Amino acid sequence: MPPDPSADQARAAIQAALGQIGFCLPGSITIRHARCGKPRCACAADPPSLHGPYIQWTRTVNGKTVTRLLTPAQYHAYAPWIANARRLRALTAELEALSLAEMARAENWDKITPGTLAPARTKLVRVPKQPITPKTPGDQPA
Ligand SMILES: [Zn+2]
Repeated sequence: MPPDPSADQARAAIQAALGQIGFCLPGSITIRHARCGKPRCACAADPPSLHGPYIQWTRTVNGKTVTRLLTPAQYHAYAPWIANARRLRALTAELEALSLAEMARAENWDKITPGTLAPARTKLVRVPKQPITPKTPGDQPA
């Protein structure tokens, strides 16, 4: 059975969008403020003046969560790559849902249950205004 023209058009649009995606980075970026633990530091005062902000890139490597601190310049350079990965996952889910619907139509099945969509793993946050210096460059356990 030939594909439904509108489904085929939707598929072509998804594939065109996939072709526009650049580099894709796994993980997510969060910006945190932290206490250092020293009792006489301003971060222990009331109200506290926390350290940071720290830009943390978190991802899973061989089943383990690893975190690396990014500079604002690195954040500006690579946050779009993380957004690309999120877009890639969304487009993949869209293509799967479309394919399931098209299969159901082609096979004359009344209903087909789509799989559960994977949860979004990428969260982008705003860039801090003040510059920061990473304390511990390199991967570190979260
Ligand atoms: Zn402190």
